[in-house]
Amino acid sequence: MENYIVSARKYRPSTFQSVVGQKALTQTLKNAIDAGKLAHAYLFCGPRGVGKTSCARIFAKTINCLHPTEAGEACNECESCRAFNEQRSYNISELDAASNNSVDDIRQLVDQVRIPPQIGKYKVYIVDEVHMLSTAAFNAFLKTLEEPPHHAIFILATTEKHKILPTILSRCQVYDFQRITIADIAEHLQYVAAQEGIVAEAEALGVIAQKADGGMRDALSIFDQIASFTAGNITYNAVIENLNVLDYEYYFRLTDAFLSANVPATLLLYKEICDKGFESQHFVSGLSNHFRNLLVSKDAATLSLLEMGEATAKRYGEQATKCDTRLLYKAMDLSNKCDLDYRVSNNKRFLVELMLIQICQLSMPAEPVQTVQPALQSVRTTAAQPQPQPAPQAAPKPAPAQPATPPKPAPSAQAYTPRPATPRPTATPRAGMPVPSIRINAQKTETTDVSEKRRNPFNQDALVAAWLKYAETIPDEVALYNTMLTHKPTLKGEIMCHVEIESTIQQSLITLTKDALLAFIHNELQNDYIDLETEIKVSNERRVSYNTGDILIAMKEDNPNLEKAVEMLNLEID
Ligand SMILES: [Zn+2]
Repeated sequence: MENYIVSARKYRPSTFQSVVGQKALTQTLKNAIDAGKLAHAYLFCGPRGVGKTSCARIFAKTINCLHPTEAGEACNECESCRAFNEQRSYNISELDAASNNSVDDIRQLVDQVRIPPQIGKYKVYIVDEVHMLSTAAFNAFLKTLEEPPHHAIFILATTEKHKILPTILSRCQVYDFQRITIADIAEHLQYVAAQEGIVAEAEALGVIAQKADGGMRDALSIFDQIASFTAGNITYNAVIENLNVLDYEYYFRLTDAFLSANVPATLLLYKEICDKGFESQHFVSGLSNHFRNLLVSKDAATLSLLEMGEATAKRYGEQATKCDTRLLYKAMDLSNKCDLDYRVSNNKRFLVELMLIQICQLSMPAEPVQTVQPALQSVRTTAAQPQPQPAPQAAPKPAPAQPATPPKPAPSAQAYTPRPATPRPTATPRAGMPVPSIRINAQKTETTDVSEKRRNPFNQDALVAAWLKYAETIPDEVALYNTMLTHKPTLKGEIMCHVEIESTIQQSLITLTKDALLAFIHNELQNDYIDLETEIKVSNERRVSYNTGDILIAMKEDNPNLEKAVEMLNLEID
């Protein structure tokens, strides 16, 4: 690679056709030129490196070309085109408003505008980063923009459209440049690599494209950097090492561990990632993104949202088939919460580990106590049949003496069969008994059909006892265990188990286990109506006390282990 020229300059597009990733927009510009409908001012908006300045230059060259091609492009051969390509044309002038934003700079430009072009028809003035102009400069510019000479065309470019004054906006034709897609960038990089005789793995270019975040200029400069570092052999490993990108392999492995509820494996993988020096928050947002990618891979309709190379996309497709959609929703929610809580957390590593454990829990088998499903059961037997209630898990008995009439209401009854896979005795109506009201009455039956739901009275103490008993079944889930010990419920009304906690983390811990916990409490207290609600309360109303004894009592309340410690160590507090 002697005579090294920066790729971003060497491969700067010279025709509309060669602009990457802005097809619709360049077509519109070509059409306007073709129809001779040119405006006096254009505003090109969009992120950096997506081709705004390149398009402005191509536009300027094309409208001055003496022999435009049939495709509406500049010929690149006439005197005007050659002058443009050799950067000696007087018909184009560029002002970078980021560094030249004073009134004087604009006045100079305005003075030039009056002079008509010598060759060609138009003089084009490109003002880059136009939002950087001072207010005074803006005002000085406005007059010229209102009454420009016939030969003058202004192309204003900005990355921050919202900063452009409405008076300017209303005088411009606005073109919004899109972020270039990762696939488009990767494809262009592949083209450049081929031209330069550089070997590049598709995966590697995909990572560069991703890192460039929709900007071609950045992508090309990263490309140059890695090409020179690897002596023209761009591999995936070289790229992730150079760009300090976390290998997506980790996310695939982690997800496999999640799916098999392998908590130790996830924690060890996370440690490995930390040991390599990766920021935990980057890891967490990368993980969120991984779940998101799995989700969009599940459906052909959303597959286009997956921006990556073919091989990686295929791997996502494979892993996605193993993931339940609801699991992905919950996992995204958990990783997102972790991301949000990350900055304020005092124990960031623990927060991330907790999230990993919670995602593992999504794949754990449901608690065995979760067998009572009173709501569904009551619907199933609505047909006023005094059927002895079968245990829900029991094998279905053959329906007794099916009537010979065709089972007309089957479809509607089926709609309420909780698990269609296991054949249940269909709620076939007795002869002549209509069942059209099942759907409408479903809710009503749930509340009126009390015979099947247990409703034993219980008190606050019994509730707390059941709560603690459940906690004792999960000593390994340290965070939840501690939360439950230190946050006992209060009975609100007859059935509401009300828990005050201090953080969204605690709330999500309890919410995650809610089904299993309620099923357990229902059984313990023989009452299927008990419900659970949580409330986040900042504990600033705790009683203020300067008495050591009171403080100790409060501390013991918060941490039951303290009581044991005081006993074991034989401590006396006066
Ligand atoms: Zn030409």
